[in-house]
Amino acid sequence: MKTIAIVGGGFCGTMTAVNLARLSIEALRVVVVNDRFPTGRGVAYGTTHPEHLLNVVARNMSAFPDLPAHFVDWLRNRCEFSDLPLAEVREQFVPRRVYGDYLQDILFWHAHPVAGPARVGIELVEDEVVDLEPASVGRGARVLLRSGDAVDADRVVLATGNPAPHDLVPPGPVRDHPAYCGNPWRGWQDRLPDPGEDVLLVGTGLTMIDAFLTLRSLGWRGTVHAVSRTGLLPLAHFKGSDYPAFPPESVETMGLRELADLIEEHCTIVRAAGMNPAIVVDKLRPYTQRIWRNLSAADRKAFSRHYRTRWNVVRHRIPPSVAAMMADAQEAGRLVVHRGKLGALRCEGTRIVAAVEPGDGGPPRALAAALMVNCTGPRESPADEPGALMRNLLGRGLVRPDELDMGIEVTPDFAVVDREGRPSDVLFAIGPLLKGTLWETTAVPELRAQAHRVAGVVLSARPRLQPDWAQETPENLVEYYI
Ligand SMILES: Cc1cc2nc3c(=O)[nH]c(=O)nc-3n(C[C@H](O)[C@H](O)[C@H](O)COP(=O)(O)OP(=O)(O)OC[C@H]3O[C@@H](n4cnc5c(N)ncnc54)[C@H](O)[C@@H]3O)c2cc1C
Repeated sequence: MKTIAIVGGGFCGTMTAVNLARLSIEALRVVVVNDRFPTGRGVAYGTTHPEHLLNVVARNMSAFPDLPAHFVDWLRNRCEFSDLPLAEVREQFVPRRVYGDYLQDILFWHAHPVAGPARVGIELVEDEVVDLEPASVGRGARVLLRSGDAVDADRVVLATGNPAPHDLVPPGPVRDHPAYCGNPWRGWQDRLPDPGEDVLLVGTGLTMIDAFLTLRSLGWRGTVHAVSRTGLLPLAHFKGSDYPAFPPESVETMGLRELADLIEEHCTIVRAAGMNPAIVVDKLRPYTQRIWRNLSAADRKAFSRHYRTRWNVVRHRIPPSVAAMMADAQEAGRLVVHRGKLGALRCEGTRIVAAVEPGDGGPPRALAAALMVNCTGPRESPADEPGALMRNLLGRGLVRPDELDMGIEVTPDFAVVDREGRPSDVLFAIGPLLKGTLWETTAVPELRAQAHRVAGVVLSARPRLQPDWAQETPENLVEYYI
């Protein structure tokens, strides 16, 4: 019997295991090795805080690309949603912990099917994968775990997900200070200062919003400062408009300059029609991966340098209710957003004092905070990852960074490319690790398709190219923007 090992048990690892169980016609052993966050939930859905909402409405959060109503149907079996009309359930921004329940439910039913012994056995192991040893004879690899155990596997899928943010400070007194929290997803809520103290959140994206919402729900009285180079917060979702004239068929083969002009032109038209120009970015969603793959390396780099932040602000939006809370907090002075660069940091008793250098060349402003949380988002460069696994994979030459150093290089059939440029027969990868290859590989509407397709690829004797491998059909996403 073949063994497939999956490294990581967040959405991607879990749904790869589930799809292997759904698709395999032969007996199969699937071993999911996961550490730090609860298996099934991962970083995003491991939160226990009810104020952390999905940033995608329920109708687009099915875990299965071939069963688009699956999540909404599941939700309607929960008492808090059972009395709501279907149309309302579909539009809910559900707490992420509820989505974690959904994923764990799916995993449980595939790992413990009620209809007798399963053809595919799913084993869940809580441990850290620290290395992979390619088999010296035959195919496969030995997956080495922190505990000293090992799993011999025919194929291995890397689904290691979202690493903690890049460190803001080198090792030293600030990093060791009790007020400093380098990982926004690890327990800073358990060591809070007095609620009258000021807090500094570094970053103004989705992670900062999570942190602010938690402080708000605790009735925080001190001022919360948030700082980033742009000072821009994510925009709110909106409904009720469509823009069928966009995009033109040629969009997938345009270079960056042409693309930027096209987007600018259509944003102007949409604005003039009184609609939200973000719809132009939404309408690109089903094409984004193909556009990205067709761009030259120079254009991808230029996009990352010049447009990335603006793109993210428009693309990764928040529920309108959350946007309204953020606006209220800013108006009331409970949240102060600073546009500037984080300068020197020093410890002062129970506080950390940060110098924020404004973008306009003015003098730095000193902000003293009894809690400072790094909300700058997941780190990207594989060489930067603190875990042993990536270091060892790079050291062995089993993986190589993609050309933007945002993740690792894979082929269109998910095979990991080694240092010499050879696609592996054994090692595959999905999820945020593929950012440099695909750009749009963060949210469930893309990841569910990847999990389904990587399962198909690893089950076939010889992985085969599927040109549209990670692409949802526009029909599956069509309601995303209206
Ligand atoms: C805070 C947050 C909120 C989000 N909200 C949404 C949302 O509302 N809607 C949406 O569509 N998307 C959202 N996303 C995007 C999110 O990236 C995906 O939805 C999805 O959860 C990614 O899953 P993953 O399995 O790739 O990664 P992760 O959830 O990061 O899971 C990876 C798992 O692998 C484990 N792991 C890593 N290395 C090893 C190792 N060497 N050995 C063993 N285990 C290992 C990690 O500890 C972790 O448990 C959010 C992301 C974040 C970070």
